[in-house]
Amino acid sequence: MRQKLVLIGNGMAGMRTVEELLKQDSDLYEITVFGDEPHGNYNRILLSPLLSGEKSLDDIMLNRTEWYAQNGITLNTGKRIESIDRKRRVVIASDGAETPYDRLILATGSRPFVIPIPGKDLPGVISFRDIHDVEAMLESSRTGKHAVVIGGGLLGLEAANGLMKQGMDVTVVHLLDTLMERQLDKPAATLLKASLEARGLRFLMQARTEAFVGEDRVTAVRFEDGHEVPADLVVMAVGIRPNTELATRAGLYCERGVVVDDTLQTYDPRIYAVGECVQHRGETYGLVAPLFEQARVCANHLAQYGIARYEGSVTSTKLKVTGIDLFSAGDFSGGDGAEEIVMQDAAGGVYKKLVLRDNRIEGAVLYGDTVEGAWYFQLMREETDISDFRDRILFGRHHLGDSGHGGQNQAVLMANDAQVCDCNGVCKGDIVNAITQKGLFTLDDVKTHTKASASCGSCTGLVEQILASTLGGDYESPEHKPMCKCIDLTHDQVRAAIRDQHLKSVRSAMDFMEWKTPDGCAACRPALNYYLISTWPEEAADEYQSRFINERAHANIQKDGTYSVVPRIFGGETSPAQLRALAEVAEKYDVPTVKITGGQRIDMLGLRKEQLPGIWGDLAAAGFVSGHAYGKAMRTVKTCVGSQWCRFGVQDSTRMGIELEKLTWGSWTPHKFKLAVSGCPRNCAEATIKDFGVVAIDSGWELHVGGNGGVKVRATDLLCRVETETEVLEYCGAFMQVYREEARYLERTAPWVERVGLSYVKQRVVEDEIGRKALFRRFLDSQEIYQFDPWEQRARGVDEHEFTVMRQVGG
Ligand SMILES: Cc1cc2nc3c(=O)[nH]c(=O)nc-3n(C[C@H](O)[C@H](O)[C@H](O)COP(=O)(O)OP(=O)(O)OC[C@H]3O[C@@H](n4cnc5c(N)ncnc54)[C@H](O)[C@@H]3O)c2cc1C
Ligand code: SF4
Repeated sequence: MRQKLVLIGNGMAGMRTVEELLKQDSDLYEITVFGDEPHGNYNRILLSPLLSGEKSLDDIMLNRTEWYAQNGITLNTGKRIESIDRKRRVVIASDGAETPYDRLILATGSRPFVIPIPGKDLPGVISFRDIHDVEAMLESSRTGKHAVVIGGGLLGLEAANGLMKQGMDVTVVHLLDTLMERQLDKPAATLLKASLEARGLRFLMQARTEAFVGEDRVTAVRFEDGHEVPADLVVMAVGIRPNTELATRAGLYCERGVVVDDTLQTYDPRIYAVGECVQHRGETYGLVAPLFEQARVCANHLAQYGIARYEGSVTSTKLKVTGIDLFSAGDFSGGDGAEEIVMQDAAGGVYKKLVLRDNRIEGAVLYGDTVEGAWYFQLMREETDISDFRDRILFGRHHLGDSGHGGQNQAVLMANDAQVCDCNGVCKGDIVNAITQKGLFTLDDVKTHTKASASCGSCTGLVEQILASTLGGDYESPEHKPMCKCIDLTHDQVRAAIRDQHLKSVRSAMDFMEWKTPDGCAACRPALNYYLISTWPEEAADEYQSRFINERAHANIQKDGTYSVVPRIFGGETSPAQLRALAEVAEKYDVPTVKITGGQRIDMLGLRKEQLPGIWGDLAAAGFVSGHAYGKAMRTVKTCVGSQWCRFGVQDSTRMGIELEKLTWGSWTPHKFKLAVSGCPRNCAEATIKDFGVVAIDSGWELHVGGNGGVKVRATDLLCRVETETEVLEYCGAFMQVYREEARYLERTAPWVERVGLSYVKQRVVEDEIGRKALFRRFLDSQEIYQFDPWEQRARGVDEHEFTVMRQVGG
């Protein structure tokens, strides 16, 4: 018999827990949900756009009542749970009905704080919490003219903006002299106030409310100095308190909120609590991102996996008032030992402040230009050392060239039909619709539903911006997200487990980490396989089934289903004999297109899969090996003619390129990896947009890292200068090895260098000589195992089934 799970609170955190649980195990529990609101589950964040008329009720529903039925969940709407009998393990509803539970989740949210002053119970005095409140506000806006909002925080301003949009004359009353004092410093708050005033809002700052005046209904607000402001509607938005009533009555330990541990269990282990009603490690939260993190961990435990832990969250805020860009995160108050970087353009309406401690971001306030908010937030959460780009940090993510997006990276300004994901042809409008209609919150959700950012990933930043600007509030940063839906651990945690537990096969890794799906998915299998072979090159078996089609077929699949074959041409230098051999093979197989690639090689396009082993055999016989043009691997070393032929060349770049390619070919990397060598600083081989670039100088060689010529062009960072060719090879191998060992799968060197910081890379590869030599040694050891020609093997019959045509059945 299935266990009984009861959820009290049909809101955002509770239902998210249930959704996560269904994803992990839909059969374990018989689920019953109680909600005292008369609706299915809706997106509370979007109440502000509902009030302002930018969204309809339909737009904000997350799960309709049919959804509950389809998932076998018993939903009780409009039903309040009055008490919990923990001894008998039953919950008791307001109508006296009892429902038994084996496990119980409390997700009762918060209650708006009501200032205890005369007139607080008059009709027309309301708070801003649920659909009912919005309906009351809309009703008042139809009949009344004057609205007073008490509280100049996030919620108060959103309410005021919405009511103004509904045609009311709105006054915001705030106790302090700055708006949103918990999120903004004075300069930003001043800009915000000016901008809201220009739109028509009125403010009464440092004003103490004494009473709400009226007989049958509120008519005015009176202040301590005796003056009155007319009011047909008063909205109180002065804060929230965790709703702990039920928990306290049930004898559960509560302080400000229901106290839970890192597994979201209360003092009664059968009872979990998630959401705004919770107090975890002394903190309570009033934004969805942390609540969703809690939901995931809670679901993991309910599904009996038991490995996830919730360790608290750092939050960020955005104001959802269309046309006002405001972002705030962390602690921006500064204080001892903190430094500030500030940019202020009052006339242009732009203000940016970062608070740093030990070169790490501690807080951020952005007004007027919030494009980089998500990036600063990520740097803050990851505690990245920003000293390498401190001088440029306020000007934005300097590596983003945004080619292909017309230089426009402000998601907010993009037209709905502007294409965001070029790989999958997804427009901004598709993404916004999916987010609002399907109730998406995370990058992964958007990937699954729209395919945006699901291929090359270069539009990820843009998709995140769209998420942030559409949701207004916070959304989950992918960096702290689980590797995929099959596991709650992050890439880094999975990798650490492989290392620490000496796991050597996909199966043993999945078993040890309690994978939630029996065989993983297309996202985790290739990543796991890569982590295994890069951690234990001598011991882990490379799994054929865990590779993408290109790597399984050792050739690049093209849009018509045929394959292309690119033999390696070391350093781009060829000979008449090689060219003749290639021409003969191309003629023999009737290759439709022969093309010189951007990486100085020759591509033979249009081959059928079953032709591949034959062509590879002939190429091997002519002395060629695979160019790995299909793999998350070292691809190519581009060179110029250098001192051998060029009048300007100061070193022999072609020979250097050949040496580098001989050293590195055949190595698997987290993503594709490209090199180039230029014979002088004129840089004809474009070495400064490669993962590893070498530029010859009079005294030796300049080594560059982290370049990328893709959709987001990024120029390299200078790693160091060296004198000898031997050093170039050693530094290159060491750099590749630290990237191979530490970057996340599908993370190119550009974002990896950004994430870990150039100083870190320099420390590992340049400053620590012993460490560098050890890295290089590990690189060479791994090459001894992996530097073989997969084509030659396949031509001999390895994985033959992959290239055998399936027999056609029937006509
Ligand atoms: C207008 C508004 C705008 C917001 N904007 C943002 C934003 O931009 N970004 C952001 O991150 N967050 C925002 N928030 C906050 C966010 O909505 C909350 O953090 C989130 O909804 C809390 O989720 P929860 O499940 O803990 O509580 P809720 O979503 O409030 O759900 C709790 C539910 O439990 C029900 N309940 C309580 N007691 C009982 C009982 N005894 N029996 C049955 N049912 C019960 C309540 O009626 C409620 O439906 C906003 C909130 C509001 C009100
Ligand atoms: S980079 Fe310098 S050496 Fe190489 S081709 Fe250009 S000018 Fe000549």
